Amino acid sequence: MSLDGTYDEGNIFAKILRGEMPSAKVFEDDHVFAFMDVFPQSKGHTLVIPKHSRARNLLEEEPQVLSHLILGVQRVARAVRAALQPDGIVITQFNGAPAGQTVYHLHIHIIPRWEGVPMGRHASGGMADPKELAALAEQIAAKIS
Ligand code: AMP
Repeated sequence: MSLDGTYDEGNIFAKILRGEMPSAKVFEDDHVFAFMDVFPQSKGHTLVIPKHSRARNLLEEEPQVLSHLILGVQRVARAVRAALQPDGIVITQFNGAPAGQTVYHLHIHIIPRWEGVPMGRHASGGMADPKELAALAEQIAAKIS
């Protein structure tokens, strides 16, 4: 999919938001929802999405929604740091298939990194154990402030 197109209400993140698909939830407020990536590029790979949005990518999003989104990302990234003590954290976001985007509901990746531990490939590694994801989500959620 290119940068242009229409929002698909059947995309996987819209289904998660509607409760039609399970997720390992980390955090939620009026504006954002955070949950574990099921194909994590590192331990603790978390996604943050706007709850009230039909933007497929960053370019389509309303400024007000973006403001809440980035504040949510900062809050969750701080919790990831407190919970998992990484050496660094990658914050990333893809727009359009040629850029690597695979799900077309705006989302931001929080990927903790440790010295000497290579980052997994984007959206193509193995699926994580749901129990492990649930445990990580709980650990991170406990550090949300
Ligand atoms: P992107 O490729 O930037 O659009 O990112 C989409 C991300 O969603 C990838 O990192 C996938 O591993 C992840 N993903 C796909 N399906 C699910 C799902 N059901 N629950 C959580 N993460 C998912």
